[in-house]
Amino acid sequence: LFVTLEGGDGVGKSTQAALLESWLIDQGQTVVRTREPGGTDLGGEIRQMVLHRRGHIAERAEALLYAADRAHHVATVVRPALERGEVVLQDRYLDSSVAYQGAGRVLDPAEVRDLSLWATERLLPDLTVLLDLDEAASRRRLDAARTEYDRLEAESDSFHARVRAAFLGLAADEPERFLVLDATRSIDDLQAEIRARVATMLG
Ligand code: C5P
Repeated sequence: LFVTLEGGDGVGKSTQAALLESWLIDQGQTVVRTREPGGTDLGGEIRQMVLHRRGHIAERAEALLYAADRAHHVATVVRPALERGEVVLQDRYLDSSVAYQGAGRVLDPAEVRDLSLWATERLLPDLTVLLDLDEAASRRRLDAARTEYDRLEAESDSFHARVRAAFLGLAADEPERFLVLDATRSIDDLQAEIRARVATMLG
């Protein structure tokens, strides 16, 4: 089972992933919890490059770096785990690229998606949890966590609004793959709904 968590910065993806991981382990599942960018050693180096040089990398080069991270991560971590019958819980995947490199920047979202599909040999998640947060709430959370997210200062509110709209558009295109949740709900409430959906998929 391949589950991804998507949404803007500071919406609570890693909190929900950690809670879901412990519940899945209690259910007897073997879980690989991972993230992009940076889920492998090579990916860690790519993560440093794309985040530290943000705004100074040509858009197509940036999209290719994220795609390179994803190609290596899928080939060496995600697919092998899925083939062993494990559950992969992943913080960000191709929808982040479509939203950030596509809608957030100037690239064609369909081309960015095709690039990712090529990079991953068309691996799509079984379930994508989109934690949706409006711009004002998202700004408040990021301000509260300023040190961790210092690098985000450069991105404007309109950038975040475009990214959010892109995520919601992707979810509307593939309603069976996406579970869209209002990220202002309580942590426990969100987790209960995620677990209920995952439970139906474990068979
Ligand atoms: O969620 P995480 O902290 O790993 O994201 C790192 C940063 O990389 C985020 O600020 C996000 O805006 C950016 N990102 C991106 N394109 C992706 C994935 C992440 O611009 N495909």
